[in-house]
Amino acid sequence: MSVAILGAGLTGLSAAYHLEKDYEIFESESEAGGLCRSVKAKGFVFDYGPHLYFSKNDYVRKFLNDLLKKNLHELKSSAGQYSFNRFLKYPYNVNLYGAPVEIIKECILGYVEAVHDSRKKKPETYYDWCLYHFGEGYANHFMFPYAKKIWTVNPRKMTTDWIGKRIVMPTLEQILEGAFHRSDRMLNYITTFKYPLRGGMSSMIAGLTQRITPVHYNKKIVRIDIKKRKITFHDGTSIFYEKAISTIPLPEIVKMIPDAPASIREAVNRLIHNSVLIINIGVDRSDLSEFQWIYFDGDEPFYRVHFPSNLSKFCAPRGAGAVCAEIAYSRFRPVEKEKMVGLTLRKLKSAGILKASDRILFQNTIDQKYAYVIFDKYRKTCVERLRNFLRKYDIETCGRFGDWDYLWMDQSILSGKRAAEAITTSAG
Ligand SMILES: Cc1cc2nc3c(=O)[nH]c(=O)nc-3n(C[C@H](O)[C@H](O)[C@H](O)COP(=O)(O)OP(=O)(O)OC[C@H]3O[C@@H](n4cnc5c(N)ncnc54)[C@H](O)[C@@H]3O)c2cc1C
Repeated sequence: MSVAILGAGLTGLSAAYHLEKDYEIFESESEAGGLCRSVKAKGFVFDYGPHLYFSKNDYVRKFLNDLLKKNLHELKSSAGQYSFNRFLKYPYNVNLYGAPVEIIKECILGYVEAVHDSRKKKPETYYDWCLYHFGEGYANHFMFPYAKKIWTVNPRKMTTDWIGKRIVMPTLEQILEGAFHRSDRMLNYITTFKYPLRGGMSSMIAGLTQRITPVHYNKKIVRIDIKKRKITFHDGTSIFYEKAISTIPLPEIVKMIPDAPASIREAVNRLIHNSVLIINIGVDRSDLSEFQWIYFDGDEPFYRVHFPSNLSKFCAPRGAGAVCAEIAYSRFRPVEKEKMVGLTLRKLKSAGILKASDRILFQNTIDQKYAYVIFDKYRKTCVERLRNFLRKYDIETCGRFGDWDYLWMDQSILSGKRAAEAITTSAG
């Protein structure tokens, strides 16, 4: 075989699609999709956490529109923020209306002070970045508590190279407008998005798998002999390759290489990430929330919930509603997993999302070991070192955990495409 593609998540599938020929694709699970999968049970459809398609890239838009054809509808975003035991609109920085007056005052004063502070230094950590751009009020009341929940580390440990357009940078005028009245303006990176009408995001994966060579499922790679270009699977079988495209998380692929030198093991030990426990709940009531998703920065275990039944009416049986809570954890902040379902149900009730009278029709939990890469001062150089090492042995890495980056679906598709092109160019 000439090219072995390792992993049939969105990136691996994209690499296969763009390579067109001379490849085989191997996946440890019994189905494709990785993080872009959907659970279908009792008339409910839950993705592995919310998966909204909001790409601004023309190539990806055409690619996905072709894949999903008519099974795609467009929605206007409607996101919420649950802080101070009440629901605000998201992004909170331009939607302070409804927050306690003292908090609004502290946020606006802090913002004005930060903007006019001529002595401030360019921020290097996320902690300083929040203070630099937003001031103490926003930072202490919203940004730091949320950052600790989702990233599981102190924002002082984090760099800022993941932010991009993810955080809205409002003007004072926009802040004031949003503090005086509840506005319908959606000042966010995601103002509209697309979502499959039927089948959740796995319908995109189904479209993609139909266009490529069949995936070899239940083929967990356990060992790679980089000198002999030999891959061994957990079932004892093995294959030889000329070149490989890997979407396996960098820490996992390095563990599979007995010949990896100490410096490479050291680099890989520096990489940090969080994991996410996804708790899906289906109930016998449809009007769970006016929002499609809500961020939480308080003492709830979850940092976000979303409502699949508000993304498509086909994600729940008629008259029923679906809610999914995401709980981040890591070695820096472990959670007692067995307690999380009970705690989530209690907190959803105390926030008023679920009611005591709701009957639970479906519940399941998914544990995602690799969910978000955590950006710290070691990430960039370590990732470069690891990828250069693997490249020397003809392994091109790509995807969320092969690039070791904060990639959305569109960026993962492009990452797979880039890897396919890199392999083709080096072969040519
Ligand atoms: C909670 C959450 C919410 C998200 N929401 C959005 C969103 O709203 N919009 C958006 O655009 N993006 C979203 N994303 C990002 C999106 O999920 C990713 O960009 C994309 O799915 C990454 O695909 P991937 O193929 O790179 O990685 P993965 O999906 O992780 O695929 C890697 C594949 O490799 C396989 N594999 C691993 N180890 C082995 C092995 N040893 N042998 C064989 N196979 C192996 C895995 O089983 C998996 O199938 C979200 C991500 C998360 C975690």
